[in-house]
Amino acid sequence: MTTGIDIAIDSRLADPTLMKQAAYIDGEWIPAPARDGLVVTNPSTGATLAVLPAMGTAETKDAIEAAERALGPWRSRSAIERSRILRRWADLIRENADDIAIIESAEQGKPVGEARDEVVYSASFLDWFAEEGRRVYGDVIPSNSADARIIVIKQPVGVTGGITPWNLPAAMITRKVAPALAAGCTIVFKPAEQTPLTALALMALGERAGVPAGVVNMVTTLDPPAVGLELTTNQTVRKLSFTGSTEVGKILMRQASGNIQKLSLELGGNSPFIVFDDADIDKAIDGVVSAKFRNGGQICTGANRVFVQEGVKDAFTEALVRRAAAVKVGDGFTAGTEMGPLIDEAGVAKVERHVADIVDKGGRVLTGGHRHELGRTFYEPTVISDLPRDSLPWYEETFGPVASIATFADEDDVIDLANDTEYGLVAYVYTHDVGRVFRVSEALETGMVAINTGRVSNEMAPFGGIKQSGLGREGSKYGIDDWLELKYINLAGLSR
Ligand code: NAP
Repeated sequence: MTTGIDIAIDSRLADPTLMKQAAYIDGEWIPAPARDGLVVTNPSTGATLAVLPAMGTAETKDAIEAAERALGPWRSRSAIERSRILRRWADLIRENADDIAIIESAEQGKPVGEARDEVVYSASFLDWFAEEGRRVYGDVIPSNSADARIIVIKQPVGVTGGITPWNLPAAMITRKVAPALAAGCTIVFKPAEQTPLTALALMALGERAGVPAGVVNMVTTLDPPAVGLELTTNQTVRKLSFTGSTEVGKILMRQASGNIQKLSLELGGNSPFIVFDDADIDKAIDGVVSAKFRNGGQICTGANRVFVQEGVKDAFTEALVRRAAAVKVGDGFTAGTEMGPLIDEAGVAKVERHVADIVDKGGRVLTGGHRHELGRTFYEPTVISDLPRDSLPWYEETFGPVASIATFADEDDVIDLANDTEYGLVAYVYTHDVGRVFRVSEALETGMVAINTGRVSNEMAPFGGIKQSGLGREGSKYGIDDWLELKYINLAGLSR
C-alpha cells in the first residue's frame, strides 16, 4: 500500500514508502477497497496519484473510539515525554522535507520549492508546541477564607476533531495536531479531498517518531458532511478545530451547538492591503506579490482588496503590472515556476466570475484576466484597477491570482473602506509614520495586522481572525489554550 499510481512521482521520492494509499486509524493503515475510492489527482497534469478509502460515519466512529482508548495513556504521560515525540516528529519532517514537498506539489500544484518551505514551516508547530506543552502552568489564587486555597489546573480537553483545507496541506495539520498532542489530547482529523497524501506522509513520520496508535487518526472521505456531522455530534469529541471556508464553518458551528462542543474556526478572509503615500513602493510591491500571487492567491491571508493612496497610485500600479506580468506560471516541478495551477475547475470558475463582475461594474483589467495558455486550471496573474465597491471581490475572497486596486484619499477614508467587509482576518499596511501605524492598526477590524510586510504566519504569533473570519487562535503561547480546560479546585480545611 505504499506506492502511488503516478510512477513519475514515486520515482522522484528518496523514500517511496511516504506515498501512502490508505487511511490511518488506530495505528493501522487501511487500504482502499477495489472500487469507489477517493481518487487523488495532480491538478497540473490530471494524472491520478493515488486511490484512498472513501470512508463515512462508521469509520469516523471507529476512529473516535480509537482516540478515546488512546486518550488515558497519552494524557498520563509526562509533558516532557510527549514533547520528545513531537520534537522527533519535527526532525523527521525536516529530514524528509524534499520528499514531502514533491508529494505536496504533485497533489496541490504549487511550485515544489514553495511546498518545501511550507513543509519546514509545518515542522515548526511541532517544535513550538513541544515546548509550550511543558509550560502548561496553573495558578494558586488567594481565597476569602484563611482555611482554604484556590488552585487552578489545566487539563487536556480530551478527544478532539480536526478538518483542514487543501491550500496548505502540511501546515494546517500540524497547526492543530501539535497543540492537541502537546496538551495531552488525542485527535481524529479529516484532510481535504484534494490533498490527503501530504497528510499521510506526515502520519507515516509521526508513527516513526513514536506517536502511539490511536493518538492521531486520519479519515479519508468523499463525504465530508458525514464525517463532519459525526465529529460535531459524537459526544466523545469535546472539541473541533476547523480551517476552511466561513460557509462550512457555520454549518459545523450549528451542528456543534447540540453538543456544546468547544470550537476553533480559522475561516475565510478578505484582506485589505493598504499603501500610504509615504510607503516604500518597492517593498510594498514585494509585499503584495507575496500576499497575492503566492500559492496562486489561494491563501486565506491573500490580499483581496489593494487600497493605494492617490499620490502613489500610478507608480504603484505600473510597478505591480510589470511584476505580475513577469510571474512565471507553470507546472510545480518545472525549474523557475513561481505560480502553479489553481486547485480545480471550481476555483477557476470563481476567479472568472469575480473578474467578469469587476469589469461589468467599471473596473479595468491592466494585465491578465484570462485562463493561462497552459490550459487546464492555470490562470494568468492579473491586476485590475478601479475596483468598484459593489463588485464581488469587495465582499468575497477571490482565492485566485487577481490583485484588485482601489484608491483612497486619507486615513479615515481607508479605514472605512477596509472595514467594509464581514471578514476580519488580516490587514497589510505600508507606511513609515509611527503614529499612523498605531492609529490604523487599532482601528482595523482584523485579528492580525502586518506593517511593511506581506507575511504574518509563523509559529510564534497568534494566528486568527475576528468577525466572520473565525474564533480562537493557532500558534503562539495562546494556541495551546484552545486544547485545554481550566479546573478550579477549592482546597479547604487547612487550619489546624
Ligand atoms: P472548504 O470548502 O470549507 O473545505 C475545508 C474542509 O472542510 C475540507 O476538508 C472539506 O472537505 C471540508 N468540508 C466541506 N464541507 C464540509 C461539511 N459539510 N462538513 C464537514 N467538512 C466539510 O474550504 P476550502 O475550499 O477547502 O479551503 C479554502 C477556504 O479555507 C478559504 O475560505 C480560506 O480562506 C480558508 N482558509 C482559512 C485559513 C485560516 O487560517 N483562517 C487557512 C487556510 C484556508 P473536502 O475537501 O473533502 O470537500
